[in-house]
Amino acid sequence: MTATATKTYQLYINGEWIDAAGGKTFAVQNPATGDLIAEVADAGAAEAEAAVRAAHAAFPAWSKRPADERAELMHAAFDILKGRIDEHAQILTLENGKPLAESKGEATIGAGFIRWNAEEARRTYGEVVPSPTAGKRVLTYRQPVGVVAAITPWNFPYSMITRKIGPALAAGCTVVLRPSSATPLVAIEIIRAFHEAGFPPGVVNIITSKSAPEVSKVLAESPIVRKITFTGSTEVGKQLMAQAAGTVKKVSLELGGHAPMLIFDDADVEAAAQGAIMSRFRNAGQTCICTNRLYVQRPLLEQFSQRVAELARGLKVGNGMDAETKVGPLIDERGFAKVEDQVKDAVAGGARVLAGGKSASLNGNLRGYFYEPTILADVAPDAKILHDETFGPALPIVPFDSEEEGIRLANDTPFGLAAYCYTRDIGRAFRVSEGLEYGIIGINDPVPTAPQIPFGGFKESGLGRENGSMGIEEFMEVKAVTIGL
Ligand code: NAD
Repeated sequence: MTATATKTYQLYINGEWIDAAGGKTFAVQNPATGDLIAEVADAGAAEAEAAVRAAHAAFPAWSKRPADERAELMHAAFDILKGRIDEHAQILTLENGKPLAESKGEATIGAGFIRWNAEEARRTYGEVVPSPTAGKRVLTYRQPVGVVAAITPWNFPYSMITRKIGPALAAGCTVVLRPSSATPLVAIEIIRAFHEAGFPPGVVNIITSKSAPEVSKVLAESPIVRKITFTGSTEVGKQLMAQAAGTVKKVSLELGGHAPMLIFDDADVEAAAQGAIMSRFRNAGQTCICTNRLYVQRPLLEQFSQRVAELARGLKVGNGMDAETKVGPLIDERGFAKVEDQVKDAVAGGARVLAGGKSASLNGNLRGYFYEPTILADVAPDAKILHDETFGPALPIVPFDSEEEGIRLANDTPFGLAAYCYTRDIGRAFRVSEGLEYGIIGINDPVPTAPQIPFGGFKESGLGRENGSMGIEEFMEVKAVTIGL
């Protein structure tokens, strides 16, 4: 199925596709063209409460089902998702704007999160603990935490969802999903796959809504919801954490980043330049683990900067549906304005523009917010772009001299999600990876993510980890049982 201008999408609560109260809907637009793609049901607090009740009612039976049965159903959903990668990638590009090849990549890895977690469902072992006394035995069980609310952003509208609902369902939790109102369509299609796979009513629910604060408040403050898992900005993450404090629920937060990339003078220059470009410009720079600051050891500075600028100038900007496109539009005017402001601020502070530096002028029916892939040199230390998350296609280059200075500059931020380093010195690779205060380190690797790799941040980039064998832990409680003999 392809989303069309006339199509209206519904909410999915307790196994049924329903309209929002009063038939209220909101519009979803293609960020490349500004065209209306679809109308989507606009839920409010009442629908959020209904979804929470449905998830609560479904929890006892779902959590008691043997892990093998939960895994089988998840594999069935995975098979459906896998069969629809191309179709879902099209929807993803229509609503998010990223190049189609990136959308296929995201849908493939995103479906993979369901398969990975289906396998993990069977391995939630407990322990027999050596007893402190002869007359006692001690066991631990791991049990699902309960109803989970998942709130997700627009930049990875597929994979941010599956890496939350995958481990939640595998653990035996039930879920209420609230996707970003900018990109609700592929989210609905993912839930449709779970419906078709035969998940019982109430186990997964989706409430699309334009009013994020209203619906999120219900989810964060509900005493029934026992876990909030959120991906988005640090600002909103802090707010949800405060709202969740009233009921002391578990909270996982995957928040903003400001990733440094350190290029040492022993690096493979071409691999490092290609890596910097991939890390900064995929998804038009709207990736939480995107390189936001490029630190280059001084002997390489000129050569490396020229090469990166040359590669940036070669990136074709356009509609993600066009096979040639490497950089799509920013998601909206706000996202565009932020990049423009940061570049202007850097230039006003003395920065030199090595590539790009302005709005991209494009031909054809493209009314979206496009920005040229931009490389900046001689950036002042207090420039906004070196401190605030850019979330767009602009990359500042800063020189450094020693390894110690590089690590110090890289760590000089409240964020701690991802960091990168290019070096061929094995000792340096270990020293730098140990010195960086970040949850994810890519050494000679611009894409350090996969279902088996733990994902999460230090400092203000978040709490908890997704993926890897520990991803499912976030959705479980440990119960200790002591037995007197
Ligand atoms: P956002 O915080 O504005 O929105 C995230 C979600 O929260 C959306 O569903 C949104 O509708 C909702 N929301 C917005 N305002 C809200 C409010 N006041 N109360 C409750 N909910 C609200 O973030 P975004 O712009 O959608 O996404 C970009 C941000 O997400 C960036 O900061 C990026 O770094 C971060 N991100 C982090 C990761 C990670 O894994 N750490 C991954 C992707 C994106």
